[in-house]
Amino acid sequence: MTQRLSPGATVGILGGGQLGRMMAIAAAAYGLKTHIYAPDPESPAFEVAGRHTLAAYDDEAALVAFAAAVDVVTYEFENVPADTVHLLSRHVPLFPDDKALAITQDRLTEKTFVAGLGIPTAPFNDVAEVADLEAALAAFGRPAILKTRRFGYDGKGQVKIGPGDDAAAALAAIGHVPAILEGFVPFTREISVVAARDREGNFAAYDVCENEHRNHILDVTRVPSAIPAKLADEAIAATRRIAEALGYVGVIAVEMFVLEGDADAPDGRIIVNEIAPRVHNSGHWTIEGAVTSQFAQHIRAVCGWPLGSTRRTGRVEMRNLIGEDVDRWQEIAGDPELHLHLYGKGSARPGRKMGHVTRVVPE
Ligand code: AMP
Repeated sequence: MTQRLSPGATVGILGGGQLGRMMAIAAAAYGLKTHIYAPDPESPAFEVAGRHTLAAYDDEAALVAFAAAVDVVTYEFENVPADTVHLLSRHVPLFPDDKALAITQDRLTEKTFVAGLGIPTAPFNDVAEVADLEAALAAFGRPAILKTRRFGYDGKGQVKIGPGDDAAAALAAIGHVPAILEGFVPFTREISVVAARDREGNFAAYDVCENEHRNHILDVTRVPSAIPAKLADEAIAATRRIAEALGYVGVIAVEMFVLEGDADAPDGRIIVNEIAPRVHNSGHWTIEGAVTSQFAQHIRAVCGWPLGSTRRTGRVEMRNLIGEDVDRWQEIAGDPELHLHLYGKGSARPGRKMGHVTRVVPE
C-alpha cells in the first residue's frame, strides 16, 4: 500500500513560475501546504504558497533545509540540475524521479529512449562537430532542424537548415554546443497527450489536445482534437508505454506530430517530438474543462493519492496571453463565459507567458 500524505502535509515544489503557482493552488484545495524553492525573488508562485526558499539550485545548505521542511518534492521544470535532484532524493521522496529527469533533459537520450520503445520519432543523429552535421544533412536531406541537446524550449536553441544554408554557421548559431539534427517532419497537426501515473502504477490520460503555435510558443489548445479516434488511441497508448517504461509518477505530457494518412496507415501516423516530465501548458484547459485538473492530478499522484477522473466537461479552447496580450484582461473579464487566469508577473515582455484564458462549451 502506498503511503498517502494527509492534508496538512507539505509539498515542496522546485521552480516558482506559473506551473508551480497553479500546482500550489491545487494543493491548497486539498488542504495540503506548499513550499516553493526558486532562485528568482519575483517568482509568481511565492505569492500563493505558505512558505518559500529564495536560493540557488546548487545551494546545498538551503536544499537540505528545504528537504527537512517538506514531505515530498516535485518540480515544475525539467532542467533541475542532476546534483540538486540527487541531494534532495537522499533526504525526501522526489517525484517524478531522477530517471525521468535524466532521460528528458537531453534530446538525444530522450529520442533514443522513445525510439527504443518502438515509438516513431523524427530521424535524428548526434551532432558534436560540423562533420557530424554535414553527414546527418546528407542522410536526412533539407530542410532539417538542428537542436541543442539541452536547455531548449519554446523554439529556443534550434535552427532550421534549408537548401543553401551553411552547416558551420548553423552550429555557430546555437553556440556550438552538443546538438542533434532532426529530419524535417511534414506534419499536418501538432498534438499532445497529458496523462498521469500514480504511485501504484494506475494510468489516466486526458483527451488528446490539438495545439497551434505562434512564434514557436503555444498559442491555442483545442480539445478534443479532430484526429481519427484510432490515432488518438495510438497517441495515448504511446504515452502510456513511455510512462510505464520510466516507472513514472505524476503528470507527464508528450508532444507529437501528426502525419497525413497513406495507403499503409489511412488514419495517419503519430511521431513523438518531446516529453515533458511535468504539468504542461497544453493541459491548462483541464482546470475548468475536466473533472480533475492536471495540477490536482499531479498533486494526487505525488502525494500517493488515487488519480481523479480525466473526463472532459465540454469542448474547450485555451488561449495563452503572451506579452502584451495581457492588456486585454478587462475585455476578457467582461465576457462571463471565459475563465481568465493571470500569473501575477510584473512586466509583459514580448514572448512572456502572462496568463491564459479558457472557454468550455458544454457538448
Ligand atoms: P521543440 O523545441 O522540439 O518542441 O520544437 C518546437 C517546434 O518546432 C515544434 O512545435 C514544431 O512546430 C517545430 N519542429 C520541431 N521539430 C521539428 C521537426 N523535426 N520537423 C518539423 N518541425 C519541427
